[in-house]
Amino acid sequence: MLGESIIGRARENGCVEINCINIRDYTLDKHNRVDDSPYGGGTGMIMQTQPIYDCFEALCSEIGKRPHLIYLSPQGKTLTQERVKELSKLDNIALLCGHYEGIDQRVIDEIVDEEISIGDFVLTGGELPALVLADSISRMLPGVLANEDAFTLESHYSGLLEYPQFTRPFEWHGVEVPEVLISGHHANIQKWQREQSLSRTFERRPDMLEKAELTKKDKEFLKKLEENKQQQ
Ligand code: SAM
Repeated sequence: MLGESIIGRARENGCVEINCINIRDYTLDKHNRVDDSPYGGGTGMIMQTQPIYDCFEALCSEIGKRPHLIYLSPQGKTLTQERVKELSKLDNIALLCGHYEGIDQRVIDEIVDEEISIGDFVLTGGELPALVLADSISRMLPGVLANEDAFTLESHYSGLLEYPQFTRPFEWHGVEVPEVLISGHHANIQKWQREQSLSRTFERRPDMLEKAELTKKDKEFLKKLEENKQQQ
C-alpha cells in the first residue's frame, strides 16, 4: 500500500522515507517466538518485552537518534487532524504495532512516548492503524501534494467539513452542478463554498463548530441556520 499512488511517489521522490521492521528478527528465543501467555490468566498472547526493546534500541543506533515512538493502541488518544499536523513537523517517528492481546506493559512504560488510537473499535493488529498514521502524516509533508490548498481546504484541517465537490459532466441523471460554480465569479464561489462547509458541519458534526475558527459572517450564517432549524 505504501508503494502506490501519492505516498508511493512521495517515497520515490524522497519526500518521505518509510521502513518496516520485523520485530521477530530481534527475538532471542530459539523458536523465534515474540509472545507468551498472560500472567494472571486470560485468553490470547502478549508480545514480550525483549524483542520490542532490542528492536527499538537497534533502530536508535542505526539512525543515530531516538525517534518519537508511538504505540498504536485502542487505549490511546483518538487521532485528529490537529495531531497529524503536529506530528508531521517531527523528523523521525517510529510506529509500534501490537498484535494478539497487546504488549507487556513494562516495555510500553519504558520506551513509548505516546499512544494513539484510530477510533473506538478493536482491530487484530496495529498495522492498519500504522498505515493510517503514515498516510495522514505523509500527505502533509512539503512536496507530497501538488499545493497546500489540497489539504488546507479539506475536512478537519480548518475545523470544518469540506463543501460538496462536482466535476464534469455538468448534468448527470438530470441533476445539474450548482450554477454558481460555473459563473467564474471567484468571490461568489468562495462564499458558496464557505456556506456549504458551514451547513455541512452544522448538520453532520455540530460538535466541531465549538472549536472552529469562525468569522463574524460565519457566525451570522450559522445563527440563520439555527433559526431555520427551530422553525421546522
Ligand atoms: N487487548 C487490547 C485491549 O483491549 O486494549 C487490544 C489488543 S488488539 C486485539 C491488538 C493490537 O491491535 C493492539 O496492540 C494495537 O496495536 C492494535 N489496535 C487495535 N485496535 C486499534 C485501534 N483502534 N487503534 C490503534 N491500534 C489498534
